[in-house]
Amino acid sequence: MIFTTSWDDGNIADIRLAKLLTQYDIKGTFYIPINWKFRSLSDSGLKKISKYFEIGSHSFSHIDMTSTNFRQVIFEFTKSKELLEKVARTEVKCFAYPFGKANEKIAGMLRKTDYVYGRTSKEFDLNMPKNPYKAGISISVSNNKIKTLHPKGFFISFKNNFKWQKIAKSLFLHALRKNKVFHLHGHSWEIENENNWENLAEFINFVAKCKDVEFVTNGEMAYQHQNKI
Ligand SMILES: [Zn+2]
Repeated sequence: MIFTTSWDDGNIADIRLAKLLTQYDIKGTFYIPINWKFRSLSDSGLKKISKYFEIGSHSFSHIDMTSTNFRQVIFEFTKSKELLEKVARTEVKCFAYPFGKANEKIAGMLRKTDYVYGRTSKEFDLNMPKNPYKAGISISVSNNKIKTLHPKGFFISFKNNFKWQKIAKSLFLHALRKNKVFHLHGHSWEIENENNWENLAEFINFVAKCKDVEFVTNGEMAYQHQNKI
């Protein structure tokens, strides 16, 4: 099976997260916005992370791409890529839509650029994305879920007692048995706020020990996808 991870927003706690993932040899992609008041990761922090992880774009200004005009969307795609590549000195080929929001039109626009992959925040996906410009995730490291869509298509209400790590483990084991794809997603600031560092370490320690798991970045997954079709 394939295991990939992605982390959004460029928070200073990304440094701690990168150290944790490196400890277990877990690969992943850090999606960084350029000019957004909640980005606290410096360019030198970003450069350090880029030595071990893939850097993706999380747009220029972290706006909802579905409610802005054509020119702005192109600017968000291209300017962020150009500036991130200057700092990371490596090609930026993956994009995570701010707020996880993209429609067919936005995904189609991304396809016409030099990016190879576009990620939403749609959960419970355990397959190679049908459309690599509208890829989903398996689960987010977050207990902040009031209602969420079960893979069988119905909504479950978790009220305030959702434990992401329980669902993550059962989804992961399912993906492993069926030789599927598991995409772990999160925000380091949210891990910090919810005090989830230990739970995350426990989960990735469990994953790292499993056999027949191939660890890839989001970009590597997208290239594998292209080679299959
Ligand atoms: Zn974001």
